Amino acid sequence: MRRQHYEVPLERSDYLELKRHRNSCKPENFGKWLGGFGAGKRLAVDLFSGAGGLSLGLERAGWAVAAAVDFDERALQTHAANFPGMSLHMDLGNPDERDRLVDMLAPAKIDLVAGGPPCQPFSRAGRSKIRSLVEHHGRDPHDRRKELWSAYLDVVKRLRPRAVLMENVPDMGLGDDFFVVRTIEEQLEDMGYATQVRLVDAWKYGVPQHRKRLILLARNDVERFEWRQELEHDQRTTLRDAIGDLPVLPVVPTERVGQRELPYDEPSELSKFAQDMRKWARKDRVWDHMTRRVRKDDAEIFSSMDSKTLYSEISPELQRYKADHFTDKYKKLDWADLSRSITAHIAKDGYWYIHPDKDQPRTLTVREAARVQTFPDRFRFAGTRSDAFRQIGNAVPPLLGEAAAEALLPVGDEQQTEGGLQPQWRTVRRDLTAWAEGQRESENWYQLPGEHMSGLQAAVVAILSGTRMQPTQLAAMVEVVRGRTSLSKAALEALAAAAPTEAAKARVARLAAVIGKSSLWSDEEKVLEHLKLKPAEATLYRLLVGEDLLLVGQGALRVAARLHGSDSDRTNRLSDGRVDLVKLVGAGEDAPLRMAALRLIGSSFCRAKEPLCHACPLSKYCVARESVSDDLFTDALTGTHGRETMPTQAREPGRTAGRR
Ligand code: SF4
Repeated sequence: MRRQHYEVPLERSDYLELKRHRNSCKPENFGKWLGGFGAGKRLAVDLFSGAGGLSLGLERAGWAVAAAVDFDERALQTHAANFPGMSLHMDLGNPDERDRLVDMLAPAKIDLVAGGPPCQPFSRAGRSKIRSLVEHHGRDPHDRRKELWSAYLDVVKRLRPRAVLMENVPDMGLGDDFFVVRTIEEQLEDMGYATQVRLVDAWKYGVPQHRKRLILLARNDVERFEWRQELEHDQRTTLRDAIGDLPVLPVVPTERVGQRELPYDEPSELSKFAQDMRKWARKDRVWDHMTRRVRKDDAEIFSSMDSKTLYSEISPELQRYKADHFTDKYKKLDWADLSRSITAHIAKDGYWYIHPDKDQPRTLTVREAARVQTFPDRFRFAGTRSDAFRQIGNAVPPLLGEAAAEALLPVGDEQQTEGGLQPQWRTVRRDLTAWAEGQRESENWYQLPGEHMSGLQAAVVAILSGTRMQPTQLAAMVEVVRGRTSLSKAALEALAAAAPTEAAKARVARLAAVIGKSSLWSDEEKVLEHLKLKPAEATLYRLLVGEDLLLVGQGALRVAARLHGSDSDRTNRLSDGRVDLVKLVGAGEDAPLRMAALRLIGSSFCRAKEPLCHACPLSKYCVARESVSDDLFTDALTGTHGRETMPTQAREPGRTAGRR
């Protein structure tokens, strides 16, 4: 029955057992390993290592991985076969297991703790998956994996390495206003680390696929993260560079495609990338160049497609899925372009990874997927074909790991400073907080959260935001409700009388819904509902009543970009712009105050044209000041142009204006 339905035999591929690496070790031999293979090496620990993509990146950058930890036994088998050191099966969510790990590592001097806590709960796709599992299968809604970043941080706290590297999906930051990321950075700063967060395109570091990742770096020796120069678009590694040299596989529908071991004929011209991938591989052999059998109808579809073909454009009699639901069910890759991002989904089906050659109507093989993730050909994956796909899809691409780790290499003879660093951005935030606290006492009081700000006042400011009013007119209106915690009819009439335009009067009229409702203000959701606040108004209201969120407005983004010396407010406000902003907002109870203060600086001083830098409270830290301001002459007269050392992130290669 099944066979008829699927047209291809359901099969489990053979199971690949791998021998441990000759320099791998067990916990009981770790002391000996430290005195032998590990002696004199810069040591790293890879938490949530999976098969070892990040471990390989660390190795390429000059570290030896003393211990890798994961909960997936097959991935650990892969790790143990490919790396020296310990490959440990542990649940890091369990505090006892973490104690055991820290005890085990006590005799070693760990220079770097790296890893990517499981990312499914952070990604949009992962969240909806978990939500639906909760709804439909009664799964426990409290997913402990969500908290694994704090387990990771706990290990860092106890090992106190010189450097830290965390990798995750961009949504770990973008999905929650960088709340968790800001918290992690603050905790690392408390321990004396300088930190950096970047949203990185993996292809800019040689990875032949579209893949954006969030990288968090920290170090306690110097406040400097020097990344290598990013590749330009025409220097990217194309799919042809990545897999064009691998043997052509004949495809007969429903028959096996490829094999565990095949002959390899090195072409006369091998791309630089392929040369790198072939290092240490057996010269005349390629392993794991195999994939799923292909259905007859799929073979027909694959041959008829090109890289632009949408599912709805496939011949209707061949469509098995609803074309309006599965718009991108099939994706044929393009020889001349990057691959689609390889994810663990490739273990389920390969339809997003259809080989670009029309004469090979099939999906990518294990070896091709490994190449696209930048695993070299010598690297084998334990288990079945599906296990290999899953391990590859879940991995950090080694070349990306290498680039990130390089930014943490020791610089000259710099030693860890006693008590750690006082990062420059922490100083910027301290000054910003102090300035904002002072502003609460000024005519700008209504722009800042704090004890002085009642829900009513915040609602009035939020409702009037977006009207074309002079700041003095807005200030005069808000003054009407200053000190009030509920709205009377008389106060509403006074507000209406103070409104300078018909548009402002119309907005004030919306407040009639809350007259006399003094108990309403303790329930934020009810306030939003009664006043029918639009999304932007609701965000401002929430910020003014002290909620920790990012209000990504043009003014605040401009301040952040100029302080960093980047152009993120113009080129990439939703991702890099936010990354610049969060560095200034930071975490903790004063984060909302700083967020509001940045908004205020953006509207009062940091104007798009002719900013008032001489009056700006952050001018001494601002990288862009000299290029955007014409007030240097004024400064020379007033003697106010003192500059502190530039914050680290501002000096980072590839982040100066126009080079992103
Ligand atoms: S110093 Fe000038 S350019 Fe820099 S943030 Fe302040 S106002 Fe903007």
